[in-house]
Amino acid sequence: MTSLHIDWHCECQDGPASHYSADDGEKCYGWCQGTDHDCAGLGYRPIAHTRRPAAFVAMLKAIGEDSERWPKHYSVDLSSDYKTVLDLDDGDAFIWVVREMGTHLYPLKYIPDDKVGFIRQAMVYHARENTDALVYVWNGTDKLSRITYDMAREIVRNAAAGHVRVSEPVAS
Ligand SMILES: [Zn+2]
Ligand SMILES: [Zn+2]
Repeated sequence: MTSLHIDWHCECQDGPASHYSADDGEKCYGWCQGTDHDCAGLGYRPIAHTRRPAAFVAMLKAIGEDSERWPKHYSVDLSSDYKTVLDLDDGDAFIWVVREMGTHLYPLKYIPDDKVGFIRQAMVYHARENTDALVYVWNGTDKLSRITYDMAREIVRNAAAGHVRVSEPVAS
């Protein structure tokens, strides 16, 4: 059983840390200011986060199995990942990079539209800068597997070529 504290986003789309209480009311200094979802006066209102899609259950389990229990900081990233996972359909695979200082989730279905190669470049970047990160692939239905950066890059290359093929994991 994994139990952890997640900094859920507010309905205004900013993290909890952007909110503060003042003598003249509840404030937020996040990106919501001046937009149609400005949270001024409303206070921090966490997004609905009780649903547990299979992928998210697997992600929380993976965190519990990691002795370091990353991410140690920026757990608001898990709230971003959660929102992304809620928007995925059955069968949508993704690559998930977990670092000490946050997480990154890359749905494979975005890759064919990723003309500038943002996701491909992100894999190169993480492989260089975050060598100790934990890298996983979700197969779209029922399995989150630990993979290497080389496998992640191959999966991204295949997805860019139009085949979503999730190879079997190597031993971690
Ligand atoms: Zn807010
Ligand atoms: Zn806000």
